[in-house]
Amino acid sequence: MRYLILSILALAGAVESFGQRFQTAPIRKHIEFLASDDLEGRGTASLGEVRAANYIASAFKEIGLKPAGTKGYFQPFEVSFAIDGEAHDLTGRNVVGFLDNGAPKTIVIGAHYDHLGKGFQGSSLSPDSKNKIHNGADDNASGTTGVLELARYFAGNNVKEKHNYLFITFSGEELGLLGSKHYAEKPTLPLNTFSAMINMDMIGRLDAQKGIIVSGWGTSKVWGKLIPDLAKRQNLKYTVDSSGVGASDHTSFYLKNIPVVQFFTGGHGDYHKVSDDPDKINYEGEASILTLISELLEGLDKETAEPEFLTAGNPHSGTTTSNFKVTLGVMPDYSYTGKGLKIDGVSKARPAEKAGILAGDIITKLGGEPIGTIYDYMEILGKHEKGQTVEAELQRGSETKVVKVTF
Ligand SMILES: [Zn+2]
Repeated sequence: MRYLILSILALAGAVESFGQRFQTAPIRKHIEFLASDDLEGRGTASLGEVRAANYIASAFKEIGLKPAGTKGYFQPFEVSFAIDGEAHDLTGRNVVGFLDNGAPKTIVIGAHYDHLGKGFQGSSLSPDSKNKIHNGADDNASGTTGVLELARYFAGNNVKEKHNYLFITFSGEELGLLGSKHYAEKPTLPLNTFSAMINMDMIGRLDAQKGIIVSGWGTSKVWGKLIPDLAKRQNLKYTVDSSGVGASDHTSFYLKNIPVVQFFTGGHGDYHKVSDDPDKINYEGEASILTLISELLEGLDKETAEPEFLTAGNPHSGTTTSNFKVTLGVMPDYSYTGKGLKIDGVSKARPAEKAGILAGDIITKLGGEPIGTIYDYMEILGKHEKGQTVEAELQRGSETKVVKVTF
């Protein structure tokens, strides 16, 4: 009997792989192009990034998406950042394509496509990173590929879903979520027609033992209703993080009261280093994650109501994306270059909010230790335990304040 079951399973497996929705060949093709040295690491506003934008726009066109930027598929925006200490104004561009099913509501499917370029912008962790190409295969050619392949699937499945889909690849993420912030401020479709946003940031390094990390779990009950069964079908382990505020573009939509969910295969030793290359991608793993996401979109279509938005104030469940035992529940402003940790957003009912810390505050000291950069902050967090109370010194405008924070 056991043998019979095994052979049926083997047969089912074989049939399944023939009928796979997502093939590894196109996934590999996109990632190998986007993360090739030719694109020089897709630094925001660089020529390499423009070439990546052209590649994405021509794929959107070939798939049959409608242009939904402000200049065709592109939504240019001005970015200011320092190169070798000098501030410059440059132009980044989001790439936006619309699959119009004539529905009243739209689901946004996004990923950032910029990376660290040649180490002159963003936060390389490689020693001597200047003038070295950071290919960013996992971060985030993998997520960009997810957008392209999901667009191809939904445009080509001969089904008119009950939602429209807006596919966006964002620029400027590595400089502080700039592209998604710009889109959320200047949306090309009304924000109140968006029923949810699905983000993919680093989905290329699936380790079957560790599984995937799903963030934004607490921003709508629908994620907890649909995802567990779909993950089981793909044999994917997962851990969840309830917060809608995190270090990627879903945050910009969450802060506009839109339910968000983001997929991530976890950190690794090549993160933000020149060694984040296509040969280390788990292509089969990415295909199974994309199958899960496509089935999630189909599941949302079968729901009788649109996902209800919740402020994700409930405590993080499962493991979080960081290695710390404690966090403040803040979203750092990654574009801030001054001293201290500037806060861009505060999660509901987490230690920072309870202590009265606000967006715009700059934390200069925590637990008696000065914070120069975000790395000091991370180091200090690693030294504390849950339940501990420490003092935080912060700058609010011209005022210096001291508050008590309980982790
Ligand atoms: Zn990323």
